[in-house]
Amino acid sequence: SSKAKPGTTVEFYNEEMRVDFTDKIKITNELKKAIKRGEFQLHYQPKVSKSKQLKSVEALIRWKNKDMGDVSPALFIPLAEECGLIHKIDQWVLYHACKQNKEWQNAGYPKIKVSVNVSVKNFHQSQLVEKLKETLVETKLEAKYLQIELTESVFIENSETVIEMIHQIRQLGVSVSIDDFGKGFSSLSHLMNLPISEIKLDRQFITNVNADHKKALIASHIVEMAHQLNFNVVAEGVETSEELEFLKQIECDELQGFLFSKPVPKEIFEQFLKAPQF
Ligand code: C2E
Ligand code: MG
Ligand code: MG
Ligand code: MG
Repeated sequence: SSKAKPGTTVEFYNEEMRVDFTDKIKITNELKKAIKRGEFQLHYQPKVSKSKQLKSVEALIRWKNKDMGDVSPALFIPLAEECGLIHKIDQWVLYHACKQNKEWQNAGYPKIKVSVNVSVKNFHQSQLVEKLKETLVETKLEAKYLQIELTESVFIENSETVIEMIHQIRQLGVSVSIDDFGKGFSSLSHLMNLPISEIKLDRQFITNVNADHKKALIASHIVEMAHQLNFNVVAEGVETSEELEFLKQIECDELQGFLFSKPVPKEIFEQFLKAPQF
């Protein structure tokens, strides 16, 4: 397998690809220094309404390392979770996403919510609720302009404590979204009694949904049930106008994907804030 040689770019990773052991050590060591060296950056991807209005924005971390080049979060986030660096990284993201959103508001742009992904691995060590409080105070962002995206695997770890944490987050006025919904094995019944605002339908149900009867069936039923439970539904990974048409038909509330925009640096995202119509 390939090693991360200087100047090469680690771009792609999935379950089938294992990270070489030496690469893993190298990446983990570099990761430890990344915050101090200022190697992280945020990109922003819009969430768009059915009528193509800008509704909110998801902040996604980007890492440019001096030797390895761009390293995908799909690769380094799991490593950061393994080596215990994830909470530091998530706190960095949380602070910068909130600060940026407040700066956009101060600049007079329309106010939108920013979504931040938070890892739930060993979440009991993350002091998430305390960090949220601190960050909102420090950045002066109102809680209603922040949303936390948790993956549904949150419910595998320790449901009692997670449920308590979600209630506390809501009490702060921060909303909670369940990311990659349908990817794991949780069901809407898990979420029924939780103060959740949104679920994000995993990309697997969206890709080619217009040409796959089974996907279409599942997607439409999830949307219907989610609405009965008062959850907002966002479709992830919308790439084609055929997918969009189908998602509109089943009344999916919001859409996100390359069809509208890839995650982009803040300067480019500001163009969407200036003209929030897609
Ligand atoms: P996610 O939160 O589910 O984010 C969606 C991923 O899908 C992003 O990949 C995004 O670039 C990609 N995507 C968006 N639209 C499309 C599309 O139309 N087609 C395709 N093929 N892909 C699309 P990215 O940025 O590489 O992030 C991957 C995952 O890494 C995220 O999945 C999230 O779980 C994690 N992640 C990213 N940033 C952070 C972070 O700050 N903290 C934590 N804990 N995890 C993060
Ligand atoms: Mg997400
Ligand atoms: Mg997702
Ligand atoms: Mg996903």
